[in-house]
Amino acid sequence: MNEVRLTITPRWNGETVSAAAVRMTLSLPIRAGEPLFRIRVRSIDKPFAALSDDGPIRLADPDGAEIPCRTEDCEEDMGTVRVYLPEVTPERSCAVLTYTVLPSPAGRNPVLDLGSEPGGVTGSGMTFLPAFFAEGSIRYILRWDLSAMPSGASGAWTWGEGDSEREGDGNTLISAFYTAGSPLDCVRVGSFRYYWFRNPKLLETAVDAARIFTYESAFFRDEGEIYSIFTRHGNECVHPGGTADNRAYLWLYREDGQLDASLKFLFAHEMVHNWINLPDEPYGTCTWYVEGAAEFYSLLLPWRAGIVSPEELTEELNRRAADYYENPRRRETNEACGRAFLSDLETTKVPYGRGLFYLLHADAAIRRASGGAKSLDDVMNALRDEARAGFAGDSPSDAANEAWLRLYGAIVGEDAAREEFEALRTGAVWDPETDAFALPGSPAVRAVSVPGTERGTGESCVSWKFTVRTDEE
Ligand SMILES: [Zn+2]
Repeated sequence: MNEVRLTITPRWNGETVSAAAVRMTLSLPIRAGEPLFRIRVRSIDKPFAALSDDGPIRLADPDGAEIPCRTEDCEEDMGTVRVYLPEVTPERSCAVLTYTVLPSPAGRNPVLDLGSEPGGVTGSGMTFLPAFFAEGSIRYILRWDLSAMPSGASGAWTWGEGDSEREGDGNTLISAFYTAGSPLDCVRVGSFRYYWFRNPKLLETAVDAARIFTYESAFFRDEGEIYSIFTRHGNECVHPGGTADNRAYLWLYREDGQLDASLKFLFAHEMVHNWINLPDEPYGTCTWYVEGAAEFYSLLLPWRAGIVSPEELTEELNRRAADYYENPRRRETNEACGRAFLSDLETTKVPYGRGLFYLLHADAAIRRASGGAKSLDDVMNALRDEARAGFAGDSPSDAANEAWLRLYGAIVGEDAAREEFEALRTGAVWDPETDAFALPGSPAVRAVSVPGTERGTGESCVSWKFTVRTDEE
């Protein structure tokens, strides 16, 4: 089997990790003139980490003789890629790849850069590790050499702490997050991991996140793989937020004042993406569901689990209602929202609120049509089963929307479902419904319309305010 043995040697400068030596033994097919590996010169706005003068990228045979490489740069989705093609075929299909990277001060979101802060370093493999062209699966064996770190230091990646193994494809190293620090604080509960440096206030957020993961993973019948949250502290951060990848989330905060209840919903949202996913090509086709369902269940599951108070729930609902109902772009089509991804922040946010408030409506409609026997959970689970089996046809995303219409339409009526969906696609705005939050033993949540003001235009609009119903009402 193809195998990559990777050793990362972080170096401590008394305050943080100032360099990391990377050494890889590649047991892969290596042929002259054929692409062997590639690095991402740029990922969105983040360059590949700086290389130390004494540690450029070097490929050698196991005896240390250099294998010269030619490189080719090409533009890819959201970045630039440099492809390395060996110019000779080594005697054995084995080579050693070495270089040393220098982290820079921890940067803003997207938190892909290899960024250092007092205590340690965090980042995505995208900005300091290669991807491989080898076909078939590759066994990765990762070892942390902590000989240049203080005692008590440790290192981790998405798939666990310390030395570990993982089987994957050529992209496994670049679609993982990494951290090393002294000390690297960690909360572990089952397959859940949460890492941070130095701030004792993060312990509480880690415990909340562990409770949410435990509840969500049971609800979605998770298969028990590790899920990791990595924490970065940096200055460029208006709201806490981060970047998700396979089974992991790296997030950023600026100050202790940001460590409030809204983090529970942030982590709950990111975790939901582990289990709810649909093909979304072109972007925008299924974003209403992918992000809308993450919004829906990130409110509902912590509420069902009793992890958030009624006040925390309604405060978060109010934040999301203002974000959506006062968004000047809320009537854009799904396609227009997809095209505006990252170029216009307000338009980028629309599918989140649109999906959330439409799914609150759909949940209520399912409950009404089924006399309370069913809820959105049933349609969501059936859609998950179909997504796992895969969607066929020219456009898997259109097929996914069709599957939603069929499953939801089977309960509320197909004509009604189609009519609603066309309205959704072209920017209709639904009033909030709150049936999803009616739980035995919990106070009821209600929504009343209030005068709102569109952001940017200043025009008046209808917004909504959620409150907890008290006993006297
Ligand atoms: Zn999301």
